[in-house]
Amino acid sequence: MYYKSTRNSSVNISSAEAIVQGISADGGLFVPSEIPPITMDEIVKLGDMSYSERAAYIFAKYLTDFTEAEIKYCTDNAYNDKKFATDNIAEMSHLFDGTYILELWHGPTCAFKDMALQILPYLLTTSAKKINIDKKIVILVATSGDTGKAALEGFADVPGTQIMVFYPEDGVSPMQKRQMTTQDGANVAVCGIEGNFDDCQNGVKAIFTDEAVKSKLEENKLMFSSANSINWGRLAPQIIYYISAYATLVKDEEIKAGDKINIVVPTGNFGNILAAYYAKHMGVPVNKLICASNTNKVLTDFITTGVYDRNRDFFTTISPSMDILISSNLERLLYLMCGENDAQIREWFGALSKTGKYEVTDDIKAKLAEEFAAGYCDDTETKATIKRIFDKYSYTLDTHSAVAVKVYEDYRQKTGDTTKTVIASTASPYKFSASVLEAIEGKTSDLDEFDMVDRLAELSGYEIPASLAELKTKEKRFGDVISREKQREYVLGQLSL
Ligand SMILES: *Cc1c(COP(=O)(O)O)cnc(C)c1O
Repeated sequence: MYYKSTRNSSVNISSAEAIVQGISADGGLFVPSEIPPITMDEIVKLGDMSYSERAAYIFAKYLTDFTEAEIKYCTDNAYNDKKFATDNIAEMSHLFDGTYILELWHGPTCAFKDMALQILPYLLTTSAKKINIDKKIVILVATSGDTGKAALEGFADVPGTQIMVFYPEDGVSPMQKRQMTTQDGANVAVCGIEGNFDDCQNGVKAIFTDEAVKSKLEENKLMFSSANSINWGRLAPQIIYYISAYATLVKDEEIKAGDKINIVVPTGNFGNILAAYYAKHMGVPVNKLICASNTNKVLTDFITTGVYDRNRDFFTTISPSMDILISSNLERLLYLMCGENDAQIREWFGALSKTGKYEVTDDIKAKLAEEFAAGYCDDTETKATIKRIFDKYSYTLDTHSAVAVKVYEDYRQKTGDTTKTVIASTASPYKFSASVLEAIEGKTSDLDEFDMVDRLAELSGYEIPASLAELKTKEKRFGDVISREKQREYVLGQLSL
């Protein structure tokens, strides 16, 4: 097994190199040279293992240059009961006849990004060591809220790393800001930028590519890396929970080994649903992969028409982590679907960056229709779904997961398909308390964010995650807010350069 680039099939590097490089120099994304199979016997055996053991077993198929001990070091440090609020790491909840919610939000920041960002720092530092890079890894993150906190929690106090996160001072929720500015860890720094998310992002990009900064890092045995969602080290960990979910359903006798399931995923950057596609092609019996979007429905349109067109209005919704018009990970899917034709990918993604648009071939349209279903749901329907599920099943959904539930209900009604179904739930309702409360109570709450959490606890009966409960009284550690022009100076200062 080796890794190649979606824009140059002749690239041949190890998984450690792919993880350290993050993105290929040709602009493509790294993909494994083959999708490794997993047999039904193997999947059934996973049922008797802990999550960390399941993860190690599956990683061994992708990270073939890692030793068993190296993989175990990564999985044990990431998936344990100090980091996650449940021993099972991901929980499965039976919602209604044959429909299960896969709760991916029991990690330290209450969103599914923890599933990958808890392990990425270990994969990254282990990879660097393996390829004899003897440098401290410096992570710079520009965040619109959730990724920054998840990256901070992942990298905090991981040996051999340092992390700096920049957020738009007026562009994140009070709760998100508190989550970040109270972050523990000796190797972390958090800084507000006077500007919007793009200002933060552009600043980070400029520093990444600044030659003078690069050579200063070099002299001091430091290197930059990124934690963003196109890194293979973020995708691979997401494959695990789909295989694990199937193993759990078999073990709990909800399905028989070999039965097909549907998987529904609330989608933004296409990472989470692509992981489900990999799980299917490894050997998990999947009938349909159902892609759920909010009003930014570029993916629904793509899957139903074969035309990807980002030239459209951008909507700010109550499921903000899905407010995306360029779904980067789609490149990996299309590379696989077009028979690893790198020239074809260069053409489509060249057109995307030039004109914002491309259209796939009839052959790919047919493959998309065979493997995927897609739908979308607006804010009004999202809120109505939260309310309906709350009233009917006493289950409290967050806004993103509610989009998935609604799209699934529509799919089931339209097709009559009653295949057992796993719906990926990507955030705790507490993470989006204001919208969830509004949906349930039918009016905008005038409480502050912490009182909203308390109110939601009264209504839902769900325990408030300790990581959110403690924020109220936790000491603020980072108060810097700087102009965009000062970002470079800030980074150099933090690194004592
Ligand atoms: C990031 C995120 C998503 C979208 O996941 P992708 O992998 O980008 O498709 C959905 N829900 C939540 C809560 C998220 O944080």
